[in-house]
Amino acid sequence: MNTPTISRIELYKINLDFITPFKIALGEARRGEGIAVRIFTDTGLVGVGEGSPYWFITGETQAISFEASKAIAKLLLGKNPLAVEPRLNEIDSFLVHNSTSKSAFDMALYDILAKQAGLPLYALLGGEKREIVTDFTIGISDPQTMAQKALDYIDEGACSLKVKLGTNRADDVRRIQTIREAIGMDLPIQLDANQGWDVVTAIATLQDLAQYNITFCEEPVAHWNNKGLKRVHDLSPIPIMADESIFDHHDAARLAEMGACDYFNIKLAKSGGIHVGLKINAVGEAAGIACMVGGMFETRVGISAGAHLIAARSNIKFADLDTVHHYAEDPVLGGAVFHGCKVSLPDTPGHGADFDPAFLNKMEKVVIE
Ligand code: MG
Repeated sequence: MNTPTISRIELYKINLDFITPFKIALGEARRGEGIAVRIFTDTGLVGVGEGSPYWFITGETQAISFEASKAIAKLLLGKNPLAVEPRLNEIDSFLVHNSTSKSAFDMALYDILAKQAGLPLYALLGGEKREIVTDFTIGISDPQTMAQKALDYIDEGACSLKVKLGTNRADDVRRIQTIREAIGMDLPIQLDANQGWDVVTAIATLQDLAQYNITFCEEPVAHWNNKGLKRVHDLSPIPIMADESIFDHHDAARLAEMGACDYFNIKLAKSGGIHVGLKINAVGEAAGIACMVGGMFETRVGISAGAHLIAARSNIKFADLDTVHHYAEDPVLGGAVFHGCKVSLPDTPGHGADFDPAFLNKMEKVVIE
């Protein structure tokens, strides 16, 4: 085998405007500010990765992520990109946390590995192409605006809705009540409180909401409050999914052992990419905990990688991949394609997605070589 060597890495700041601001219990975002990584090898293979830093979840802004990525890129030059685990171990030994920056490199390394093998990423990971159905997410607003958004999303082909809550019990119950009055009881709704409730409020609110056909609720209480999460889980009639409280497989093992939740939400921006995402899923599978793969504000590059991970593991039963709908512009060529709530993967080697060169040319860039 002609082993490739990493010869050059391009880093970009990816700036994209939202169609409308998006509000959750933790704060409001108005535009996508991510990073892109393109890893070049001396054999002509190119791996593409994206990191979507969500500052109030991972502690990374675009500026932090860009600087961290420059340092990570210098570590990788001259090394073999196919040895994904040693490369990621080197990055982890060099820099703790910074999961979103790491995820961009993890994604690009797996892209190269799959391209070298001549396989789509899901096939490289031992999976099979299957139908992926994503939810459509409604940000926090007044109940009438949220109900209208639900109707709009149903017109666009939504098969399930994810509703952001986490302000207070009365307003949150009114939001779901108003949405249900508008759309009826049949379409599945899942909730995400993004840590907005205390334990008592979470239990009371979830008991109030149990009558509205709710699939599960993500992250009801503060991310550090594992014991509180377990108390909510034990008393909630609605299943509980851990999100911000689980970054890696160590968090997953702790929550599983505590019996603190029913589901895990894997996000590449939290796990540092696919490699640890697979480990979180394995912990979940061993504990009888099904997983979802979700996103921050990724374009179709990051979302394509997430969709490949879903196709690769049957224990990943839920998809929250609709972040691409925030953007008026789609700067990505190839990759996963959306038809309403259905997401289909390409058969091209790797994850199949890359940024449009015309788009990248407009972005701030740094080359490490
Ligand atoms: Mg969430």
